[in-house]
Parts: sequence; C-alpha cells; structure tokens
Amino acid sequence: MREEKPKFAKKSLGQNFLVDKVAIQKIVDAVPSEIPLLLEIGPGRGALSLGLAKKAAKYCVLEKDDVFAKEIGETIRIQGQEEVFVFHTDALDFDWEKLWTETGVAANTQLVVCANLPYNVATEILFRLLERQDRISKMVLMFQKEVGQRIAARPNSKAYGNISVAAQNFYNVSMQQTLKPTAFRPSPKVESAVLVFERREKPVLPFKDREHFLRFHQLVRVCFSHRRKTLENSLSMELGRTEWGKFAEKKVLQEILARAKIDGQRRAETLSIEEFGAIFAELQ
Ligand code: SAM
Repeated sequence: MREEKPKFAKKSLGQNFLVDKVAIQKIVDAVPSEIPLLLEIGPGRGALSLGLAKKAAKYCVLEKDDVFAKEIGETIRIQGQEEVFVFHTDALDFDWEKLWTETGVAANTQLVVCANLPYNVATEILFRLLERQDRISKMVLMFQKEVGQRIAARPNSKAYGNISVAAQNFYNVSMQQTLKPTAFRPSPKVESAVLVFERREKPVLPFKDREHFLRFHQLVRVCFSHRRKTLENSLSMELGRTEWGKFAEKKVLQEILARAKIDGQRRAETLSIEEFGAIFAELQ
C-alpha cells in the first residue's frame, strides 16, 4: 500500500503527525483528568487535542503554523469543549504569562503541558518550560529518542549530560514509550520517545530565580564541555571564558573542588546533581 502523503506537512516546522492510535491513547492517558489548566504545544491537526481537551477546565494550544492555528480552535469546539484558548505564535517568542492572564485563572494555578514537540526546537522549548517549573506540575513531552534518552539519563551513563541535570533537578523523569518512525506521517528519520515529567516535591537544588538557575546551568555545561577529560582539566580549560575566570588557575581550582568535596580526577558524567550544586556553591 502506498503511504498517503499529508498535503501540508512543513519540514521547517517539524511537522510529523501522529497516526498510531495506541500511542496517541497512551499519551492522552498520561495526562490527569479534571485539571484546571492544560497547554498543548503544536497541536497540528489535533491528533492529541481531541482526547486532551476533555481533561481540562481551560485548554490552551500554542501553534506557530498559520493554517493549524486558524483551524484547531474550531475542531476542538465542535467536540464540545468551549474553553479553548488558541495562541497563534512561536513557542520561543511566547509570553507564557498569558496562559494565566488570558484564561482568567488564578496566578498560582498549576499548569500541565503535553506536546509532540517539533524536534528542531524541542530542547529550547524544554528550557523555557523548566524556567517556569514552579508553575508546571507535570509534562508529557515527545522528543526524538536520542534526546529523550539524554534527558532521562542517570549519572554514570554515556547519555547523562547538562540537559539531564537541568530537567531532573526539578522533575522525576521517566520514559513512557518509544515510537518507530511509522507511528507518524510523514515518517521522521529517527525514532521518538515520550517522557513523563512529574515535578519533585522540592527541587534537588533550589534556585532563587531564573538568572540563578541559568548561571548554574552554565557551570554544568562547562563541566561537560570535554566529556573525556577530568573535571579539573575541563574546568581549567573552560572557566576562563566565563564569569568565574579567576578560578581557572589549577591551584585555585583544586582548592574549590576540595572544598566542594569532589575529586578533580573524576569525569563530569559521574557527578550527581547535588555534587554539581556543591561546586556551584563554592564558586559563588
Ligand atoms: N500534535 C500534532 C501530532 O502529534 O500529530 C503535531 C506534532 S508536530 C511534531 C509539531 C507541531 O508543532 C506542528 O503542529 C508545528 O506546526 C508546531 N510547531 C513547530 N514549531 C513551533 C514553534 N516554534 N512554536 C509553536 N508550534 C510549533
């Protein structure tokens, strides 16, 4: 049988539409029912939207594509969900505050996010969400499989890196399912993975604001910049390019690591989130 090609799939917008009904149901089932506020990023033609819309008092969709943004609200309303808020914009330019102000819910209302993310901007979107984690209790997100494995990776594995640390500081991350390219039309070249993010009761490391979190993240990135080198060598090579330049000198660095109780001969991939936090605290 010849594969039917969707007429309007835009590669530039990462449009691979889900067609596997079992996978769709499993994603929808991961989103709790009777929640106050739900956001779907990139609803496209609504493969997930019809199942999701019933679950929330206020259902928001954020879509960059002109055609889908125009049609999706109507598609969902026909199913009986009246409280649909369509934000026709790029998720990377979006003023997230609008989810609370335009829907009229209280500012402390917790948000749930669900998305089959466009893979070209998926990690960027994830970071925007992580910056707002205090108001996002749960996320069910699809990534390309290799990226999903990195986000969910534990220390002492090849996939563990700065994105695992950033996400798992705030959320317990688990892989719900992996999907073959045939679950989508058009089929992407890679496999995909759905991750479930359940916010921890308390973050592993608390940050006082977004700036503070981003500075920590910058340090973690530096630690991972030369994965095969020891932490001491990576930091001495890279810290000079950062605001912590004065600590790049080996002797100073050794003192910092000793105070943080980290053996400088270890590699970044062996460090727990708490241990990255200890180095960060000493640099502050
Ligand atoms: N949810 C649909 C599904 O599962 O079949 C479509 C998923 S498709 C992988 C990604 C969707 O995100 C598309 O609808 C695309 O138009 C939209 N999109 C792409 N880039 C975006 C961006 N920067 N901001 C918001 N939406 C975007």
